[in-house]
Amino acid sequence: MKLENLKTTAGIDVAGKRVLYRADLNVPTKEGRVTDATRLERIVAGLEDLSRRGARIAILSHFGRPKGGPDKENSLEPVAAELAKLVGQPVRFGSDCVGGAAAAIVDGLKPGEIAVLENTRFHKGEEKNDPAFAAEVAKLGDLFVNDAFSAAHRAHATTEGLTHHLPSYAGPLMMEEITALSRALEKPERPTAAVVGGAKVSTKIPILTNLVAKVDKLIIGGGMANTFLQSMGVMVGQSLSEPEFHATAREIMTAAKEKGCEIVLPSDAVVAREFKAGAVSETVSVHAVPMDAMILDIGPASIQHMTAVLRGCRTLLWNGPMGAFEISPFGEGTFTLAREAAVLTKAGTLVSVAGGGDTVAALNAAGVASDFSYISTAGGAFLEWLEGKELPGVAALTR
Ligand code: AMP
Repeated sequence: MKLENLKTTAGIDVAGKRVLYRADLNVPTKEGRVTDATRLERIVAGLEDLSRRGARIAILSHFGRPKGGPDKENSLEPVAAELAKLVGQPVRFGSDCVGGAAAAIVDGLKPGEIAVLENTRFHKGEEKNDPAFAAEVAKLGDLFVNDAFSAAHRAHATTEGLTHHLPSYAGPLMMEEITALSRALEKPERPTAAVVGGAKVSTKIPILTNLVAKVDKLIIGGGMANTFLQSMGVMVGQSLSEPEFHATAREIMTAAKEKGCEIVLPSDAVVAREFKAGAVSETVSVHAVPMDAMILDIGPASIQHMTAVLRGCRTLLWNGPMGAFEISPFGEGTFTLAREAAVLTKAGTLVSVAGGGDTVAALNAAGVASDFSYISTAGGAFLEWLEGKELPGVAALTR
């Protein structure tokens, strides 16, 4: 994938053109109301720019997981209304993303006007990346702008298929995401650190394997650290662990040694006998975890050491919490380390990039998300980039 081949929307002539703009409007909602508008907020500047330059903008997006046909619950109509508030101009709504209804809306757009077309997943051809469906959608536009990095790990009709029919460009949010990830992973200022946490090793093996070959320090916390510790003979009591992945953990540690990557594991832990908020907890060395207790967070000595490691680094990539951060008091490890990363970022000594659903929730809970250099809007696509995989939606734009 040659990222230097990406064409951006800067400077292209969009005046009067019908722009098919792929966004990720798949925001969380409750009873038809948007509960977190972050993804919408992040496309506003790009939309305003295209609008100012006279583009006639038809927004395409998936929403939820409909069963291949229309249903009210997965309609994008309420999301379009929310977007209208954010862009400060009316946003029209097309009840389909192909055919006469869609064409009527798009053809009626004046330069600068915006419409949202109904959920692309109401058609089976979207997820199947059906060329005939992509061709139908393509009829509505003169050019294609993909600004949905968070959907780029899927080769669907409106993330990949459309690029075979229309001149295709990477939108500003797509470029922002790729630039931030490249800055942290491909061309970072060294030394580099990655913080990887979360529940299980098994879900993040490709990430850990890719990262040990790329970063100087790999800080491992969360439930997955238990499996690493246990693979070295440490007794972890009732902690979440995956003994069937001991060999994998050892392989990752061997690979790290060969590549000159230092793996940093917790030396102490906060343990409890119950997995619930307010459970009685104590701090112990990882070598003294009581047999009837479980590790739910990293301890203060680990935090201190990991913080010192971060202080020596210039670039940080973060995915996954250091403990069961959703239940008090087991978020302290995640929050304290996140606050330190934020302080270093604000001081200008660290470039910090984070992503993945739980991670962003944890950084928000720590109150530091806005102090990181970059927070990705992507979950799955962010993780696949960390795995070193080619994202079909990005690769299609480089061809
Ligand atoms: P992931 O989706 O893999 O990033 O995992 C996130 C989840 O891991 C969060 O819900 C945390 O509560 C959970 N988690 C982190 N550390 C631990 C731990 N030591 N024991 C149990 N669950 C944990």
